[in-house]
Amino acid sequence: MTGRILIAGFQHETNTFAPSKAHYSNFERGEGFPQMARGVDVLAMRDINLPIGGFILEAEKLAYELIPVIWAGASPSSHVTEDAFERISEEILAAARRERFDAVYLDLHGAMVAEHVDDGEGTLLKRLRDAVGPHVPIIASLDLHANMTELMFANSDALVAFRTYPHVDMAATGAKAAGLLSWLLDNRRELKRVSKRLPFLIPINSMCTLLEPALGVYEQLEVLENAEILSLSFAPGFPAADFPECGPVVWGYGRDEAAVERAVQQLYQKIVDEESRWKVEFLSPDDSVIEAMRLAASADRPVVIADTQDNPGAGGDSNTMGMLRALLKQGATQAAIGLIFDPAAAQMAHRAGIGASLVMELGGQSMTPGDAPLAGRFEVIFLSDGCCQFDGPMMNGMRVDVGPAACLKIEGVLVGVSSGKTQMLDRNLYRMVGIEPEKMKILVNKSSVHFRADFQAMAHAVLVAKAPGPMIADPADLPWKNLAPGLRTSPLGQSFDKPA
Ligand SMILES: [Zn+2]
Repeated sequence: MTGRILIAGFQHETNTFAPSKAHYSNFERGEGFPQMARGVDVLAMRDINLPIGGFILEAEKLAYELIPVIWAGASPSSHVTEDAFERISEEILAAARRERFDAVYLDLHGAMVAEHVDDGEGTLLKRLRDAVGPHVPIIASLDLHANMTELMFANSDALVAFRTYPHVDMAATGAKAAGLLSWLLDNRRELKRVSKRLPFLIPINSMCTLLEPALGVYEQLEVLENAEILSLSFAPGFPAADFPECGPVVWGYGRDEAAVERAVQQLYQKIVDEESRWKVEFLSPDDSVIEAMRLAASADRPVVIADTQDNPGAGGDSNTMGMLRALLKQGATQAAIGLIFDPAAAQMAHRAGIGASLVMELGGQSMTPGDAPLAGRFEVIFLSDGCCQFDGPMMNGMRVDVGPAACLKIEGVLVGVSSGKTQMLDRNLYRMVGIEPEKMKILVNKSSVHFRADFQAMAHAVLVAKAPGPMIADPADLPWKNLAPGLRTSPLGQSFDKPA
């Protein structure tokens, strides 16, 4: 059937332990995401590998009329400010009250915590349901790192999560949401939901779907979907949000509740039976560099080290110096690290010019315990305006502007420095600052998993290091206060008890 669909996007992944908040201006700029867009500019996102892009293309194929409201996303960080949450939510809700339509699609992340509400998406969906009434279908696509809540389930008809990490299926998930919505418009009353919460938190590094055990879980998920079970999702969660509904959830929708229950239970059981496989081996910064140098000595491709605890895609500021210190201490050569978010250093490099030698302090501004700025002499090797188009599988085609950027050299290490914060998820970010990633022996990426989309195939090996940083990689290391009692804080780890 044809119909009018109100569409909007509001994405934030909140690490409640991270140093800086997401203000309205962060959403305006978009940072690692496209800039805030309204009206027809939202429709222009159809060619970007984002959920709303895939939704728009599929909805146009299905001949729906779209009413685009707003799309706003900001880099992961600590809480979304009350101001940003209320302004963006209200814009969506005002359109929902004003326009006439048959259904709503939202492009959400699923792990948003605002200053004044723990459950950002649940709160928005509840207000939306109140605004549109009980008869209008509401569907949303979600990130694989969503922390699913009862409020989200209760105030939506269907929620569909990504199945890949690196998230190469963002647009595909939006397209699936459009297909499910078209089914819903005709058969809404028949849709039944079953969800099941898992008993342990999962480190984000082991959620990578290129590797086991996540690979096998999503393979099984696809096998279990059929004509009766219309949609299954597994969101392993975002294990750095301190509220009672943080954690992994399996859920599904279909006509036959018993069949959905069986499928959800089967997937749940597979994950629980393999609990030990979700544990991650983390290396210290020095051990990771020593191992990378050993491997690189006989390799013809780079060894990539994930500087996972400073991943700006999960709330890091991308300026901790632990890995650079380790590279220098171990005497690594033909090594590169990127991108270090340090606008002052980028500006100094631009003022000084190529070939200049700068004695300065780099990075370390986040004041993360165990980290500090690195003082040294840096040679300016390359200057860039910071504009770059992604070629890799993640967000293919997206243009980013990280402001004035530079390549600085200290001893045998090239350091990519930028004025804007962005995750190293595309090799073009190195090329942008004049570094040929394929020619390096060692690459240290400010990323946890997303870099694998563009770096895994070109890497001789990938290591994961735990340098001091704001994105604590092992959830068992976090100072939790508000988790659900009894939840294990890591695979086979200790159960959480509420502090006295
Ligand atoms: Zn994610």
